[in-house]
Amino acid sequence: MKAVVATKPGAPFELVERDIPEPGAGEILIKVAACGICRGDAATKDARHGIVLPRVPGHEVAGTVARLGTGITKFTLGQRVGVGWRAGGCGKCDACRAGNFNACRNQGTTGQTVDGGYAEYMVAREEAVVSMPDGISLADAAPLLCAGRTTFSGLRNGGAAKGDLVAVHGIGGLGHLAIQYAARMGCRVAVLSRGTEKEALARSLGAEFYIDTRGGDGAAQLKALGGARLLLCTAPNPKEASSLIGGIARNGRMVVVGSAEEPLEIPIQALIGGGIVVSGAGWTSIDDALRFSSDNGVKPMIETFPLAQAATAFDKMMNSTVHFRAVLTMGA
Ligand SMILES: [Zn+2]
Ligand SMILES: [Zn+2]
Repeated sequence: MKAVVATKPGAPFELVERDIPEPGAGEILIKVAACGICRGDAATKDARHGIVLPRVPGHEVAGTVARLGTGITKFTLGQRVGVGWRAGGCGKCDACRAGNFNACRNQGTTGQTVDGGYAEYMVAREEAVVSMPDGISLADAAPLLCAGRTTFSGLRNGGAAKGDLVAVHGIGGLGHLAIQYAARMGCRVAVLSRGTEKEALARSLGAEFYIDTRGGDGAAQLKALGGARLLLCTAPNPKEASSLIGGIARNGRMVVVGSAEEPLEIPIQALIGGGIVVSGAGWTSIDDALRFSSDNGVKPMIETFPLAQAATAFDKMMNSTVHFRAVLTMGA
């Protein structure tokens, strides 16, 4: 099979030929149809967090079951499936024993501790595999397995309820999904982004309000709308995200999903007097995110690339010139 591999820290991905892997006990061989490219894949490219190279990146994997290892009970040959960030838990650590499998201390990570989906085939543990709803194509499903699930989790765990004003900061790979989820959850959505070019798109995805942040008064404009019950920060711009805290309603919440190196600056009074909670997205069931997407017509806007162009596609994603998620398709 063809696979794209990170070989040396920081070096461009290489296209190689490999044997198709064998599924062991409790494992499934997946014929990959599509794999999304995510910022998280940069960790594999740079061999961060102790990642050992060579490694096949990719944790937004959609495909069909090609072979079953022994002991598989939940899946059948040919079934449409997906694999996200989690590569399976141990079932034995304190987190697992408390029923919190997403926090397993010994869980693998797809495309980091085990080979991921930048390949024609990959092996995954059964507990890491999700069944794909019918109403969604495999290419569209791929970004939902990380970007979709993350924004969905941020809204669900952030307590977004019908009628709430939800502010979405940024309208890129994560933001364009967050707007759709929030609108379809029945929230009133305000989008904050630099410039006016993306206003029409934001509104077509379900935004009721659009705020151009170039003037620097995004917080005041949110306040004028009554204040956001939830501010979901998807842009990798902590400085601007910090400037929006004043636009969150009392006892509201700021959920950060856009990763960046720089820290946030939180005024202490926002926490003490304002009762504002700041958090990451946390986890929800990946099955819930997929089903919600399928039932409510949430669809990522994707740009597809053949597997051989993974290195180019990855660079485009890192430079934020992809509209809006890059997806590798394996083709025939
Ligand atoms: Zn990701
Ligand atoms: Zn565990």
